[in-house]
Amino acid sequence: MLTAVVGINWGDEGKGRMVDLLAEEYDVICRYQGGNNAGHTVVNEKGRFIQNLLPSGILRGNAVNVMGCGMVIDLKHLCGELAVLRNKGIAVTPAKLKISHNAFVCLPCHVAQDIMEEERLGDKKYGSTRRGIAPAYGDKYMKKGLRMGDLLTPEALKDKLAAILKWKNLTLTGYGAQKADLREALRWLDEYGRQLLPYITDVSAFLREAARDGKDILFEAQLGALRDIDYGIYPYTTSSQTLAAYATIGAGLPGRKLDRVVGVMKAYSSCVGEGPFAAELFGAEASALREAGAEYGAATGRPRRVGGFDIPTSRYGVQVQGADELALTKLDVLCYLEKIPVCVAYDVDGVQTEDFPSGDALARAKPVYEYLDGFKTDISKCRRPQELPAAALAYIRYLENAVGCSIKYVSVGAERGDYLVM
Ligand code: GDP
Ligand code: MG
Repeated sequence: MLTAVVGINWGDEGKGRMVDLLAEEYDVICRYQGGNNAGHTVVNEKGRFIQNLLPSGILRGNAVNVMGCGMVIDLKHLCGELAVLRNKGIAVTPAKLKISHNAFVCLPCHVAQDIMEEERLGDKKYGSTRRGIAPAYGDKYMKKGLRMGDLLTPEALKDKLAAILKWKNLTLTGYGAQKADLREALRWLDEYGRQLLPYITDVSAFLREAARDGKDILFEAQLGALRDIDYGIYPYTTSSQTLAAYATIGAGLPGRKLDRVVGVMKAYSSCVGEGPFAAELFGAEASALREAGAEYGAATGRPRRVGGFDIPTSRYGVQVQGADELALTKLDVLCYLEKIPVCVAYDVDGVQTEDFPSGDALARAKPVYEYLDGFKTDISKCRRPQELPAAALAYIRYLENAVGCSIKYVSVGAERGDYLVM
């Protein structure tokens, strides 16, 4: 079984906890895009883990974890994540973690460029996490960069890096910054790269074999549909493909098709950073929801913008992800509400639409809100649909009907067991 777990909205839907839950049934867990610009939070008996790069299956017994060629990897950050696990007594062996030799290296100069560009943009900034992701992907497509496999041949790497920095320094000096120093960059690559060498391998060969042997493979996305570079709210997207259709390609198994796509969507909306977010709520209503849902960025600690569940956008998310079934997360968060706000349509230039607007129209979209009955009960202990209050059940049925896909899982708390199957 080849399954992708993907985000339906803007990210932070609770994919990490769903992957953690589903990973139990899978032999291999793959990350297929992105870098350390978003965070997965997993809570289990060993503690609360925020991971930006490592696949969520790393906390699971025997699962093999793959970091695919579609990723950009900040070596220092990855070493830091591995150190946290080591300190908690969780061993990560090369049998448990495999890094694609084709994954792209995110260098300190990418981070520097990301920061300088956001500063340069001032008020017009993209809301970048400033982790170097966009410059790294940009350079990847410019074919001016290092891949993880380059770390295996230090002599050749030196020449490649020298050529790359010569080019990169044209940009850095354009910002008025210091040139990147070759020796310093080599030292950085050596210090952190050395720790990662045992994990670097041809993951495609591994995945092909695993698929051929009938192993169950899970592909986990970072961020949601609305952050996909092609199908999302460009340019307020990430710089990679977050859609399920890219999962096998970015992981290293391009010749195979997915069997199942699980879309993760939250019982309300949140959006970190800049960009159009039509369903956004403000003032006391927003603060209450942000506090109830603890909506602060896992990677950056930034307060997230929040709103009611957004039907036009979520329906679009379900469509572009090709979701077969859904997981609805954080339903428990809404228990304080007398009435649940739902954005049912947009008003664009005086015309009401239930479709996801294309291009600039999205920026002008105003939300049309309706209010459904709240359930006003703590549902965090519910484990079967029959235990849910009627209003909570009605909300679930309403949402699945509105987005056109059935909700299979409902999560009602952050702990692994806090969920029910519909
Ligand atoms: P991801 O990026 O999609 O994995 O999501 P994040 O980890 O950024 O944000 C999800 C947050 O909500 C994490 O802090 C989770 O521990 C928490 N969480 C996940 N599911 C639930 C739930 O059902 N209820 C509550 N109250 N919290 C949840
Ligand atoms: Mg997140």
